[in-house]
Amino acid sequence: MAEQSAELSPVLKQATPVLAARGEGVYIYDEDDRRYLDFTAGIGVTSTGHCHPRVVEAAQRQVGTLIHGQYTTVMHRPLLELTERLGTVLPEGIDRLFYVNSGSEAVEAALRLARQATGRQNAIVFQGSFHGRTMAAASLTTSGVKIRAGIGPLMPGVAVSPFPYAYRLGLSEDEATAYALRELDYLLATVSSPKDTAAIFIEPVLGEGGYVPVPAPFMRGLRERADQHGILLVADEVQTGFGRTGRFWGHDHSGVRPDIVITAKGLASGFPLSAIAAPHALMEKAWPGSQGGTYGGNAVSCAAALATLDVIQEEGLVDNAARMGERLTAGLREVADAHPGIGDVRGLGLMVASEFTAADGSPDPETAARAHKAASDKGLLLLTCGPHGNVVRMIPPLIVTADQIDAATAIWTEAVKESAT
Ligand code: PMP
Repeated sequence: MAEQSAELSPVLKQATPVLAARGEGVYIYDEDDRRYLDFTAGIGVTSTGHCHPRVVEAAQRQVGTLIHGQYTTVMHRPLLELTERLGTVLPEGIDRLFYVNSGSEAVEAALRLARQATGRQNAIVFQGSFHGRTMAAASLTTSGVKIRAGIGPLMPGVAVSPFPYAYRLGLSEDEATAYALRELDYLLATVSSPKDTAAIFIEPVLGEGGYVPVPAPFMRGLRERADQHGILLVADEVQTGFGRTGRFWGHDHSGVRPDIVITAKGLASGFPLSAIAAPHALMEKAWPGSQGGTYGGNAVSCAAALATLDVIQEEGLVDNAARMGERLTAGLREVADAHPGIGDVRGLGLMVASEFTAADGSPDPETAARAHKAASDKGLLLLTCGPHGNVVRMIPPLIVTADQIDAATAIWTEAVKESAT
C-alpha cells in the first residue's frame, strides 16, 4: 500500500493505515481479513451499514436497467420515486427537490438558490462551520484554515458569527446561546446588513468543527431573526440528516423549520447523491437552467437512496440511533470520568465526541491523536474533528447493536488509558 500510495497526491490525508478489502454491516475487513469496528461510517455515510443486502440488491437491479439517465436530457423513474418518498420525510411544505452529487455541490446549490430568490448577496455562517471544499462552500467553511489556506481569494460576502460552543466558551448552554445571539445581532448591525443578507447557514450539530449540538433556543433565535429580516435559514443536514441524530433531521430537535434543507452522506448508503429541498414558492425562484450537472441524481444512487429509506424505516434505525447514542454517550462519559484529560463528552444520537483538554484548559490534540491511533490499532476506526483536532468522534452506522457499542467502548477505554501514558 505504501509503495502504491506514493503515486497519489500528497493532498490526501488518510486517518487510519487500513487498506479496506470489504465491508459488512458495522465492520470493515482489511486484505489480511482483519476485522475493524467502523465507527466512522465513511464520515457518516454508511448509515445502513456496509453493503446492506437491500441496498446492494436495489443498486444491482438498477445497474442492469439504467445506470446513467442524465436528468437534464431524460428523466428516470428512480429519481421521480425518490422525490416522492423524500416528500414524506421532509418537513411539511418543503416539497421541492434538486439533486447533485456531493455535500459541497448541494451547499453551492442552496447558496445560489438563496441569492437568486432574495436578490441579496451575503451569507452568515458560524465559527467552526463546515460546508464543503468547493470554492463557494470553502468560503462558508471556518472549521480549520487548512481548507482555506493558499487557495484564496475566496468568495466575498461571508460573515462569521460565534457559535454557542458552551464548553469552549466556559459558559452554560443558556449563556452561550444568549452570547451567540447577541453577537449575531451585532454582526447584522455592523457587518452584514439584513438587506444584503440572503441566508444563514447552520449545521444542527456543528460537525467537523467539533460535534457540538446547536441548543434549541439558538435555533429558534435564528428562525426569529430570519423571519424578521426576510433572510433564508438553511439547515446543512449533510452530516446530521437521515436519522443520524436520533430524529430524522437534526433540526427536528428544535422544532424549527428551515427554509432550505441540504442532505447528502447518509442519503444513499455510499452512492454519490445529494439534494437541496425547499418549499415550492422558494424553489420556483431558481432561474431555470442556472443549475444542473452531468451526474446529478444518478439512477443507481437514487435506487440506493430508495432502498436506504426502506431500511431506515422498516428496521427502525432512527429510534435505534437515539437508543444506541445514549448508550454510547453514557459509556464515553464513564471513560471521561476516569480521565481528566477528556474535558467534555457530547453529542446527539450517533454523533458522539470526546474533547481532549490539557491541564491548563487548552485543546490537547496530541493526546487525542494518540487515543485515536491506539483505538485504530486495537480494531476500532474513529475520526478526529474540531478546529484544533482535539476532539475524537464516533459515528457508527445506525444499525449498530448494543454489543457493538459495548465492544467499542471497551476498546476506547483501553485506548484512552494508553494515550495518557
Ligand atoms: N456539509 C457538512 C455539514 C459536512 O459535514 C460535509 C462533509 N463532511 C459537507 C457539507 C461537504 O460534503 P462533501 O464532502 O460531500 O462535499
